[in-house]
Amino acid sequence: MVTIGKVSFWWDNETECYDLEVLDPSATVADYEKTVGGILATPEARKKYSEHCVACSICCGGRLPLTVVDIYRLKFGGLGMALPLNGWVAAYGVVQRQDGCVDVTLRLDERETCALWNRNDGLCSVYEKRPLICRTYICAPLSWRASELRGQIVNSGEDELVRMLGLPDGNGGKEKPQPFSGVLDYGGVLLRDVCSVKLWHSLTKRDGAMDLLGG
Ligand code: SF4
Repeated sequence: MVTIGKVSFWWDNETECYDLEVLDPSATVADYEKTVGGILATPEARKKYSEHCVACSICCGGRLPLTVVDIYRLKFGGLGMALPLNGWVAAYGVVQRQDGCVDVTLRLDERETCALWNRNDGLCSVYEKRPLICRTYICAPLSWRASELRGQIVNSGEDELVRMLGLPDGNGGKEKPQPFSGVLDYGGVLLRDVCSVKLWHSLTKRDGAMDLLGG
């Protein structure tokens, strides 16, 4: 088990998936990121990776949604620093609309791999500043609540990005205050504000075993 500050994360042998628990209601997305980073640095996680990893780079492809904080982090880290938000998205992202929803993702190259992946050395070219979706990717099964938390954080941060870009998404909710409104980093976003009631209840229960599969 890895506990860094307010979030614990561990491999559950019984259910064979990673699971997590929020120990303090003041936990932020930054706390979550730190703890996931902590477990990825353990020999145990590396062993799980090495058993399955075939260096396919699939984890650097597919849908790579962005939050507004991801873009700040990349911009302040030097990628497209001088570009305004919409110019940054035009340069490094893709905007797609489906069923009235807007999706803002990282751009892929002609081989459907992230355009920020360096084909020469097989490494991420923005590793220190990579988005949350990359930092929290674990190449192993996740419990329901671990998977939902990651998804709900990204959805919330993407909603704010869509609002700031002035893109109508048909849900009529863009004028409502959102957890990511006005924040510059993940330390300013409380986990409880991005979670559904059901998810928050599950994450903060001492024994969430019943919720592992979303029951
Ligand atoms: S930003 Fe880096 S870690 Fe994330 S998908 Fe692109 S190359 Fe991979």
